Amino acid sequence: MALNISLLKEICETPGAPGFEQRVRSVVLRELSKLPVDVSIDNLGNVTAFRRGRSPKKVMIAAHMDEIGFIVTHIDDNGFLRFHPLGGFDPKTLTAQRVIVHGQQDLIGVMGSKPIHLMSPEERNKTVQIQDYFIDLGLSKEEVIKHVSIGDPITRQRELIEMGNCVNCKSIDNRVSVFILLETMSRLKDFPYDVYGVFTVQEEVGTRGANVAAHQIGPDFGFGLDTTIAFDVPGSQAHEQVTKLGKGAAIKIMDASTICDVRMVDYMKKTADKHGIPWQPEILAGGGTDTAPIQRMGKTGSIAGAVSIPTRHIHQVIEMADRNDIDAAIRLLTACIEGLDTHSWEFQ
Ligand code: ZN
Repeated sequence: MALNISLLKEICETPGAPGFEQRVRSVVLRELSKLPVDVSIDNLGNVTAFRRGRSPKKVMIAAHMDEIGFIVTHIDDNGFLRFHPLGGFDPKTLTAQRVIVHGQQDLIGVMGSKPIHLMSPEERNKTVQIQDYFIDLGLSKEEVIKHVSIGDPITRQRELIEMGNCVNCKSIDNRVSVFILLETMSRLKDFPYDVYGVFTVQEEVGTRGANVAAHQIGPDFGFGLDTTIAFDVPGSQAHEQVTKLGKGAAIKIMDASTICDVRMVDYMKKTADKHGIPWQPEILAGGGTDTAPIQRMGKTGSIAGAVSIPTRHIHQVIEMADRNDIDAAIRLLTACIEGLDTHSWEFQ
């Protein structure tokens, strides 16, 4: 099935720093209103789309809506902003980037730092820190304070473009999964258990939304849905690549916060093979996803795994994913939800 790239573009480009997901949530709610789902929003702002299954076990799927961003901490006498990161930024990726400051209205800013001409030899060799940057809005302090307040969120400014078979944008992490979950909720036909598709908040600052959602739902089965590293680029060793772009949906075996249920990993591999869906294994030594709270925040825990989308240049402004992997992820997630009652979940 052809992917709706214009919807993916809108979802990726819409701002939503952790704790400030209002605008991307509106897009999600608008899209869910077209589907046969019951929608609810909890006190944190997580959106749950529910579809009733044939028997009362519960399946939870989580895709986080938030994106790494910043928050304004200080406006100086010349109108320059200082900020604090919301989520894990690699400082070197901020050089020469445009951002959007979401105050009374959206204002474009640029990440400023010291020109190389003025740096001492020691400064040139030093790794740049987040604190070395300021945001320049091109406005006087008088103008800035009319629109911007301490506590306003800031996001990266970059539009989605298509490159070969790939899509490239800010926030592919994790809007590609928001897109995949919307698509899956729409495609599900004959499924055994109640499905809770949750669009979570504040994942990038520590899976805070999913903690609450999983605690509330108490799933029996669960799937995290997030991007993972594809380091299949010049200079990488074969054992460092984690995943490769275009080689299929990744089935998570583990990351730093979850060892996926061995039964679920086995089931997901068999389901992918049965349906001819390309897949690759994922082991990520650093980083975690909403899979952790899905697995452990319900009273009895859940049988949990995750579908990951191979992504190059992750946590930069030019994150890249492959259409074939996105398509494979939708098909794998759909098939895994629909077949849950056909598998033996006994420990072998
Ligand atoms: Zn993510």
